[in-house]
Amino acid sequence: MNHRSMRPRLGAVVLLCAAFAAVAAGVAGVAGVAGAAPGARASPGDDGWVRFRDTYRELVETNTTLSAGDCTLAAQRMAARLRAAGLPEADMRVFVPEGHPKEGGLLAVLHGTDPQAKAILMLAHVDVVEARREDWTRDPFTLVEEDGYFYGRGTSDMKAQAAIWVDNLVRYHEQGFKPRRSIKLALTCGEETNAALNGAGWLATHERAAIDAAFAITEGVGGDLDEHGERVALEVLAAEKVSQHYTFEVTNPGGHSSRPVPDNAIYHLVRALDRLSRYEFPVQLDDANRGYFLGMSKIKGGEVGAAMAAIVANPGDGAALAVLDRDPSWHAMLRTTCVATQLSAGHAPNALPQRARANVNCRIFPGVSIEQIRAQLVKIVDDPAVSVIVPEVRGPIAQPAPLTPQIMDPIRQVAHQLWPGVPVITTLEPGASDAQFMNPAGIPTYGLDGIFVDPDYGHIHGLNERVRVRSVREGREFLYRLVKIYANQ
Ligand SMILES: [Zn+2]
Repeated sequence: MNHRSMRPRLGAVVLLCAAFAAVAAGVAGVAGVAGAAPGARASPGDDGWVRFRDTYRELVETNTTLSAGDCTLAAQRMAARLRAAGLPEADMRVFVPEGHPKEGGLLAVLHGTDPQAKAILMLAHVDVVEARREDWTRDPFTLVEEDGYFYGRGTSDMKAQAAIWVDNLVRYHEQGFKPRRSIKLALTCGEETNAALNGAGWLATHERAAIDAAFAITEGVGGDLDEHGERVALEVLAAEKVSQHYTFEVTNPGGHSSRPVPDNAIYHLVRALDRLSRYEFPVQLDDANRGYFLGMSKIKGGEVGAAMAAIVANPGDGAALAVLDRDPSWHAMLRTTCVATQLSAGHAPNALPQRARANVNCRIFPGVSIEQIRAQLVKIVDDPAVSVIVPEVRGPIAQPAPLTPQIMDPIRQVAHQLWPGVPVITTLEPGASDAQFMNPAGIPTYGLDGIFVDPDYGHIHGLNERVRVRSVREGREFLYRLVKIYANQ
């Protein structure tokens, strides 16, 4: 996913550095440890970091790119770790979609005690964006620990969280933890490449019962660090926009260019696009972006902070909007956007055009339908000569997952334990993750990992992807405690 690359950068806000003794205790000095065997039990006084690190290493070092990788192998290796920890064979299954031998995944479950209680689903994609050795400083498929960072493709997006999910199940099982709800695990393939089979989508259609859950947690956003490595805020992804293409098309009988007429396909199209360029969709607020702007207003302060608070109080506040719209990310968080991305027109340099066409890419605000936006585009274009067509629909649109106290309270509780004083804020993302497949399937899906990232977002999808060792350590503790609380709700 590419959420983080689109995020507004947080300013240099120095908060009190939270004490982290509880998590760091007993697990110091593990850098460079080759790793424990898959079946090794956590020794007394050790929270299993060495073993976790080895799970993470194995996952990063299993190439899962679409071109040369193998998600099925990664799934088998993770299953072996569950097996080694004693999880019954009947409670895990490597699945392989027909015709996609290397795009498999893993399903596993720790059974709950209350058959009436719906499960919680820990969801992660294990595929990664392509990475070429010659472009990278270090081998992208070797987990390198250097200067307080883990380097490697997928270290941040999202093999840390995937390894944490496997590690959670191992730890819970070993401890004899008997949760009220079942705790399910799904590792999938195909999130990073639009053309690939999407594993989460495949599960939602073919294995709906196996992944049935009250809600799911997957990647989305984590915590924000400033340039000094200080924690600024912990973010919870609550809603994503939907990407939809529209085609503007004008056809015309054409003719010889020596005898032009006013009715010209290119001119119709250009006027339509000009009207679109000057149009702004109305501001919309939901729990996600309202929470974001309220939370950020206190962190930002000043003119920007005041504008954030003002827009939440009154979405029609033009002066506040003018301030926020200067930032393309905030502009996009506040409304649906539509922009021309491709043009084609005419068939000869000396002929009047018979056809003119533009692709318009819209990022639709959560809960708004594709047809509503099409109808609005027809109004904006205001020219019957211009057809507004939906070329293809990628998937159904669902309402965003609701931010209930049952979801938010445990997040705040654990965040307060680990990072006292660091605010928790909800957010809406212009990008998209596997939540786009889970929400329409009736499984509300939240994006959070508790892993704090630098202002460069760890170069996800880019060269030399990395994540702070401290952040992975903390994220592991955060997700371990959080899922335990949810599982007993
Ligand atoms: Zn991702």
